[in-house]
Amino acid sequence: MSEIDLHQELKKYFGFSQFKGLQEEVIKSIVAKEHTFVIMPTGGGKSLCYQLPALINEGTAIVVSPLIALMKNQVDALRGISSEHGIAHVLNSSLNKTEIKQVKKDISEGITKLLYVAPESLTKEENVEFLRGEKISFLAIDEAHCISEWGHDFRPEYRNLRSIIKRIGDNIPIIALTATATPKVQEDILKNLGVTNANTFKASFNRPNLYYEVRPKTANVDADIIRFVKQNEGKSGIVYCLSRKKVEELAQTLQVNGVSAVPYHAGLDAKTRAKHQDMFLMEDVDVVVATIAFGMGIDKPDVRFVIHHDIPKSIESYYQETGRAGRDGGEGHCLAFYAYKDIEKLEKFMSGKPVAEQEIGHALLQEVVAYAETSMSRRKFILHYFGEEFNGGKEDGVDMDDNVQNPKKQIEAQPEVEL
Ligand code: ADP
Ligand code: MG
Repeated sequence: MSEIDLHQELKKYFGFSQFKGLQEEVIKSIVAKEHTFVIMPTGGGKSLCYQLPALINEGTAIVVSPLIALMKNQVDALRGISSEHGIAHVLNSSLNKTEIKQVKKDISEGITKLLYVAPESLTKEENVEFLRGEKISFLAIDEAHCISEWGHDFRPEYRNLRSIIKRIGDNIPIIALTATATPKVQEDILKNLGVTNANTFKASFNRPNLYYEVRPKTANVDADIIRFVKQNEGKSGIVYCLSRKKVEELAQTLQVNGVSAVPYHAGLDAKTRAKHQDMFLMEDVDVVVATIAFGMGIDKPDVRFVIHHDIPKSIESYYQETGRAGRDGGEGHCLAFYAYKDIEKLEKFMSGKPVAEQEIGHALLQEVVAYAETSMSRRKFILHYFGEEFNGGKEDGVDMDDNVQNPKKQIEAQPEVEL
């Protein structure tokens, strides 16, 4: 086979003239039909890592993805780059018989380069039987952390993937992709897939433009938040709260104090949620007060602050949620209010769960406590948690946190105050 000009292919299919980060190395590994493990933060450009090789390689690439909405978006985008409608398909339970027949025909004729499936569809006997007979270029597992109980989004169906892949074909290259950087989850992914010899590509998770700060949470926390928001008037920000009730209360308190804010949580009807999200994106309001229901897939580049009224249940969640600040590379202030009482509250929430889950939850929470109470560089702490040694300089954000700027004593827990 003659040498493929990857830059030319990138330009041809996607219109980009440069690869982002490690994309080119990853793509080379996949084109060479080797097992490949990709760890890149959200927005790093993971989709292209398997889409381009799928378009180049012979056969159909199977892409396992947990979310139907995500699959649909990707398929629509891929159809836009080709005159061939069948270039990408989703295979799921919403298709009728005629549609399924067409998908299978397109695969058999070699038209389909990417077949998106949810894990539960891949498990179906008739699909396994069909795919066994087809030419499969590789199998990509997006959001691969769903395999691990240590991840933030464990999906039991992901556990069956290994045996299914084996049945579809013996030597299918496996590509696992995730934005979860913890070594524990990474080990789990490879172990569960039974892959020992993957080429691993891990991008840095450092966000040099984010400033990390933790303040003790007192009875005056709402006033502290109002003051912060007022000092940042006109800037976009997200305030995360644990409960829907608190979201409503705090949004109102902010409004009463002259801040343009809207609430967002899963208890609001779909119309109101969409409206509030749009108001935030269109900058009709500065602040959205939200539960963690807000944020997935929201791409507002100029979010200038993310405040946590309540500390989240893991460092990973904290990283994901604060990661929504400063996407444009500009200022992004990440401020968390911490009281040990909130940790106890989170522990209590878990008490009804299976013991194994509680143990994991407890271990994750202990890391949150360590982060909140540390006097070391918060950036260093977060990156260390992700298995990354931070030795960066000013351009890497070395002094962008409270502990580095004002070295101080540990923050003491405040057990007595009513929150
Ligand atoms: P991830 O899955 O890692 O979160 P995505 O695959 O959704 O990231 O990509 C994030 C954004 O980066 C998308 O808008 C995508 O079009 C863009 N992107 C990916 N690769 C490149 C590239 N080489 N040049 C420019 N933009 C890119
Ligand atoms: Mg992705």
